[in-house]
Amino acid sequence: MSLSGLTSGKAGGNAAALLTARTSRLAVHEVGHLLGLRHCVEAKCAMYPPWTPAFAASETVQLCAFCQDKCEQKLEET
Ligand SMILES: [Zn+2]
Ligand SMILES: [Zn+2]
Repeated sequence: MSLSGLTSGKAGGNAAALLTARTSRLAVHEVGHLLGLRHCVEAKCAMYPPWTPAFAASETVQLCAFCQDKCEQKLEET
């Protein structure tokens, strides 16, 4: 069995990157919920409601300063 077939396929450029970013963003979002975070009004934030077009369109995976603060507080509590 050869592994070459797994790496020869070219990633679909921007669409693939966007999908990866969206998946990571959703993962961060879920972890945020586990830590007790609520949805955020900041469109750039991973805690922004995931059913919105702005969430799907964003390529960055990050929390806003407010959510990050809350996250760190929760992590320090445990
Ligand atoms: Zn949510
Ligand atoms: Zn936020």
